[in-house]
Formats: sequence, C-alpha cells, structure tokens
Amino acid sequence: MIIIMLGAPGTGKGTIAGILAEELKIPQVSTGDIFRKHMKEGTELGKLAESYISKGALVPDDVTVDLIANRMQEKDVQEGIILDGFPRTVKQAEELDKMLEKENKKVDMVINLTTPEEEIIERIVNRRICSNQECKTVYNITLNPPKQEGICDVCGHELITRKDDNVETVKSRLNSYFEQTSPLVEYYENKGNLYSALVSKNVNKLGKDVAQHCLKYIKENF
Ligand code: AMP
Repeated sequence: MIIIMLGAPGTGKGTIAGILAEELKIPQVSTGDIFRKHMKEGTELGKLAESYISKGALVPDDVTVDLIANRMQEKDVQEGIILDGFPRTVKQAEELDKMLEKENKKVDMVINLTTPEEEIIERIVNRRICSNQECKTVYNITLNPPKQEGICDVCGHELITRKDDNVETVKSRLNSYFEQTSPLVEYYENKGNLYSALVSKNVNKLGKDVAQHCLKYIKENF
C-alpha cells in the first residue's frame, strides 16, 4: 500500500505517519528526516539541502525526486510505504506517478491534514523532538508535553527544537506550502484518492486521534 502524507508544516504528518507505519507494518519515509541526517553528517547533499531548508524554501525537485527514486528501490518498501513530506510539488507528484507506473503500482491513499492557519505557527514553535534518531517522538509543550520537561517519555533522551522551527522560517515554509504544495490537494482530489482530516485544538488536537480515524478508514476501504 502506498500512502502519502500531505499537509502544511506542523499539521502532524510525521506523528501520524509514525503511528500508521507501526500499525500497518510498512516503513515511514520522510524526506525531511533524510535531509536532516545528511545535514548532521555534513555530506554534499546535506550542505545543499541546508542552504534551502534554513531559508524555509523547498529543496529543488530534481534532487528530491532522485532521492526518493533511489529509496523506492530498496527492499523494505516493496510491500508498501508511507511517504511523509513527499511529494511537495506537482512536478514531484508527476515524477512519482511515472516511477510507480513502471512497476504497475499507484498511490493508494493521500492523507491531507488541514489545520487552521492561526494554529500552525503555535504548533510549530511549541514542537519538541526526541534527539534519539531511533525514536524521534514528537511532543508539543502545550498540547502534548513530556512527563519530565526536556526529556523523552519513551527513551529518556533529550528533547530538541528543530533549527527551522522558528517564527521567521515558519513563515517562509508556509509560503512554500501555499504556493508550491497546496495545488497537490486538487491534483489528488481529481484522482479520487484524497482523504482529508482536520487537525485542530478544538477537534482532533493530537496526532494519535487523527491516526485512529485514518486507520478505521483504511480498514474499511482497503
Ligand atoms: P519536513 O521535515 O517534512 O518539515 O521537511 C523539512 C524541510 O525539508 C522542508 O521545509 C523543505 O525545505 C525540505 N523538504 C522536505 N521534503 C521535501 C520535498 N519533498 N521537496 C522539497 N523540499 C523538501
């Protein structure tokens, strides 16, 4: 099964993808995580990605498409994959369709997370992530705080704030989303595989609640 997580930054794509991956037993692949790993290791790709990510801009399509094309060849994703943060442009979506078509595969479901714009910035600046790469549990210091401040409940490692989770960069990231990524909602709506879910402090404030709705839908429809 091929699932895409779509949504503005801070809507909970990673958290929900993580829960779905565990329940459905298929890998979650986050382009953002791959770029951050390269940045930490100081590779050429990492340096290139950082020059865009630090400004809140998207990494160019050719780089990102190549990265995913290679990742999609690996053995662990042959039965299914949850793409978290890819595609982010219509060009990337078209390239993904071409890639899948060659293997008689298709995108089965696109989960489109929507959050009122005024809540997004608050969600992002309050986000904390476990520094342990194997864990990466996400917290929100107001909506979903850890039991002990600054420490991950799951593995005990230190919680960190992503470098690009600051007010200035978030504004550019939101612009990139509205200009380049949001046309994908119509792209997938036309293909008939879009499932939209509201993520808001007034309704489904936690990713795990939304993930349960998604799982119910998947069990009933696939
Ligand atoms: P994320 O962890 O998904 O929020 O991604 C962090 C940053 O990585 C984004 O703000 C982009 O700069 C970059 N990025 C991640 N995925 C993509 C993609 N599919 N296309 C272009 N840039 C991306």
